[in-house]
Amino acid sequence: MWLLRHPAAQAVPEPYDSFMHGHLCYYGYFQEWIPPEPEPFCQPTDHQWLPMGEEQGTVVYQLSPATLKGPQDNTLLFESRFESGNLQKAVKVGPYEYVLRLRPDLYTAKHTQWFYFRVQNTRKDAVYCFTIANLAKPKSLYGKGMCPLFYSQKDAQSHGIGWRRIGTNIRYYRGNSGEEPPAFCLSWSTRFPHDGDTCYFAHSYPYTYSDLQRYLRAVVGDPARSQYCAVRALCRSLAGNIVYTLTITAPSGGAAKQAVVLSARVHPGESGGSWAMQGFLDFILSAAPDAQLLRQLFVFKVVPMLNPDGVVVGNSRCSLAGRDPNRAYRTGSRGSFPAVWHLRAMVERLLAEREVVLYCDFHGHSRKNNVFVYGCDGGRDGSEARLRERVFPLMLSKNAPDKFSFSSCKFKVQKSKEGTGRVVMWRMGIANSYTIEMAFGGSTLGGRNSHFTVEDLKSLGYHLCDTLLDFCDPNPAKVGG
Ligand SMILES: [Zn+2]
Repeated sequence: MWLLRHPAAQAVPEPYDSFMHGHLCYYGYFQEWIPPEPEPFCQPTDHQWLPMGEEQGTVVYQLSPATLKGPQDNTLLFESRFESGNLQKAVKVGPYEYVLRLRPDLYTAKHTQWFYFRVQNTRKDAVYCFTIANLAKPKSLYGKGMCPLFYSQKDAQSHGIGWRRIGTNIRYYRGNSGEEPPAFCLSWSTRFPHDGDTCYFAHSYPYTYSDLQRYLRAVVGDPARSQYCAVRALCRSLAGNIVYTLTITAPSGGAAKQAVVLSARVHPGESGGSWAMQGFLDFILSAAPDAQLLRQLFVFKVVPMLNPDGVVVGNSRCSLAGRDPNRAYRTGSRGSFPAVWHLRAMVERLLAEREVVLYCDFHGHSRKNNVFVYGCDGGRDGSEARLRERVFPLMLSKNAPDKFSFSSCKFKVQKSKEGTGRVVMWRMGIANSYTIEMAFGGSTLGGRNSHFTVEDLKSLGYHLCDTLLDFCDPNPAKVGG
């Protein structure tokens, strides 16, 4: 369904068509699984191993995989022509050693950060070394003990194990290729659990456009949830994919209700935001008494995936306009940034009819652990407006003390952030307007020193609901308690 193009959609530059036809596979099913034990951060290594230059190696994947020379050929078979996959090239530089390059965001030459690819033809006893050699960011949580995510199809089938953290000798460093701008490298070593397995590596738990569509189909098809959740098209993306918007509220209450606006995945590589959004939807659409109360008190407007094209093609940051849509809220045109333009227009209409108490845009953070927000700054030191924006995050930190760090929050409006959803919504009159950042790594709070699981990310959606209730509780006695 994500390949469908709307006839009214703006013409998309030609390479997109051929690119999409190479991406016909969708690996939709991954075993759901929560690790029974916390997955600790690893000890980052500083050993000075550098992979052999790619020039001396053999190209084994370049948009399509090389063919094996026979059953003895132990070359890994790489693949990423599936939804959200983004491996461009793999070079074999040793018997079990590979140097990889990621495809930059489509129509750009940069932004490489997200990665997601498959390998087959694994050998069980060997130690493999991988190096992704063209990452864009100078610093990363991989330098602080974060491990890549790994999935084994055989482990899923025989033991019910899903995505998990793996790797030793994990290292994040500046490459020595002399490229400008400089490229950064991520290296890790690992053994595969089985011979002849199909395995995946990813930067963060994948959450594709198809995953979202499957979730929304289930909501729409559910007689209970569909009573208070309407799923509509906000607009079409540049490629013609539907940008969905959900209106969630109890049928009663009408004009007196305040509104809450939530969005996620403006940055396609930040898939943790989708898991938190799903956690929010799971709770707010449930029969729990607090969820019912919230639906009576508020109208929720939710855009769960602002940049479906970027998610489909495996971008890190950009839309098919080749630019960051989260800098386009102020000046981006309807034609170039349809989702952002229509979200803003929807919020303008909403503000004309009711108060919007909260805007929250879900993101992932690659350099700092824990969960925190960026908010705006409404006034001088000590003024009421200045304190007001800090109340919601402070309450959230009390409700999620082992994940949310209030001291990591920042409240200011830098010049470079003027075009973000957070700042533009704030200037439009939403006092509590936040970018919520969920680390790609995990938590260092409450005695934890471990990676976030999918369950951790989902719980953030629940904590947001819980905090909203505390924040707007019609019974002020609860706030003190
Ligand atoms: Zn982001």
